[in-house]
Amino acid sequence: MNYHVLTLFPDMIRDCMNYSITGKAMEKGLLSLNCVNIRDYTRNKHQKVDDYIYGGGAGLLMQAEPVYLAYRALVSQMGITLPDTDGTKEEVYEAFAKKKKPRVVMMTPVGKLFTQKMAEDFSKEEDLIFLCGHYEGIDERVLEMIVTDPVCIGDYVLTGGELASMVVMDAVSRLVPGVLHNEESAQTESFSEDLLEFPQYSRPEVFMGEAVPPVLLSGHHANVEQWRREESLKRTKKYRPDLLEKASLTRKDELFLAQVEKNSPL
Ligand code: SAM
Repeated sequence: MNYHVLTLFPDMIRDCMNYSITGKAMEKGLLSLNCVNIRDYTRNKHQKVDDYIYGGGAGLLMQAEPVYLAYRALVSQMGITLPDTDGTKEEVYEAFAKKKKPRVVMMTPVGKLFTQKMAEDFSKEEDLIFLCGHYEGIDERVLEMIVTDPVCIGDYVLTGGELASMVVMDAVSRLVPGVLHNEESAQTESFSEDLLEFPQYSRPEVFMGEAVPPVLLSGHHANVEQWRREESLKRTKKYRPDLLEKASLTRKDELFLAQVEKNSPL
């Protein structure tokens, strides 16, 4: 997986991605990270990337030109030749008709809510371009030309798209084959089946007087599986009942949930 990030703060991305599992995956060549500083593509003396917003309103907006030029330079390395800024939107689309438009994930509150399913979808790509906004965001004209996937990481507003893009990259990286030691862990985690994960325990068997649930020490595989399934169902019902509507539940799951409801009505 090759990540390309269009950003005003490349060091922020590099510093964070170099740690832990993503850092090791980069060392192994399973992931690569190419940060493009949008400011390097300004054509004014002071390398200014933002300006006032037409129609008034608070704050400043990132201008279309440096974002477009940074993107243009990046895709030229992928064999796509785009016109300079004296060209037109139609010419840009013509270039994409000749060569597949790369996927550009725009981090924005005005986008689809990021989910594990989206992460799975992104993980199948060879190249992913992330576009990070700042200030009040980015001029809509360039977004219309280049963005394929506007993505929001939650119903709140951050100061910039860098943290948001790292959230998405982190979630996607775990699904790239070879990045996690144990592939199974990605398959049984929260959201993988629209259920939250069951509680987990490690040594010691008793901590501050609290014992690990006995079933987990029983060595009885089927009982452990049933306990985990029931705990997942209980937790999902408690914290994220909205997920249960999408989850594929068996008749046994439904009976169990009905029983839970009867014993502790909400
Ligand atoms: N004016 C914008 C709005 O109301 O939608 C918010 C701009 S925000 C201050 C600056 C940048 O942070 C955005 O362009 C985007 O890249 C990023 N950002 C903020 N919140 C985000 C979220 N929840 N998900 C993804 N990106 C976000």
